[in-house]
Amino acid sequence: MTRLRTCHCGAKFLPRQRQKSCSPACARRARPPRSPRPSINRNQPIVLRLLKIQPLERRARGGWRFGTKRISDALVDSLIASGRAEIRGGQLHHAEAT
Ligand SMILES: [Zn+2]
Repeated sequence: MTRLRTCHCGAKFLPRQRQKSCSPACARRARPPRSPRPSINRNQPIVLRLLKIQPLERRARGGWRFGTKRISDALVDSLIASGRAEIRGGQLHHAEAT
C-alpha cells in the first residue's frame, strides 16, 4: 500500500524512506533559514571582559589569543577601531584599563 505524502508546497509525492519534501530543492526551502554567521560583534563584549582580566597576546600565525582561546584579527580590529581596545607593547589591552 502506498501513501502519498503532501509536501509543504502542496505537491503530493510518494515518500522514499523519511523523505518529507517532494524534491531536495523543496526540502531546502522548507528548512528554517540558517542563522547568519555569528557576527563578530556578538563576541566583542566577551573579549572586552577578557581584556580586563589579562591582555591578549598576538599569535605567531595570526590573530590573538587569550590563554588557549583564539581571537580573530577581525574582532580585534573592530575593537581597536571603536576605541575599546588598544595595542600596547605587542599586547592588546582594554582601552579603559590604565
Ligand atoms: Zn514540495
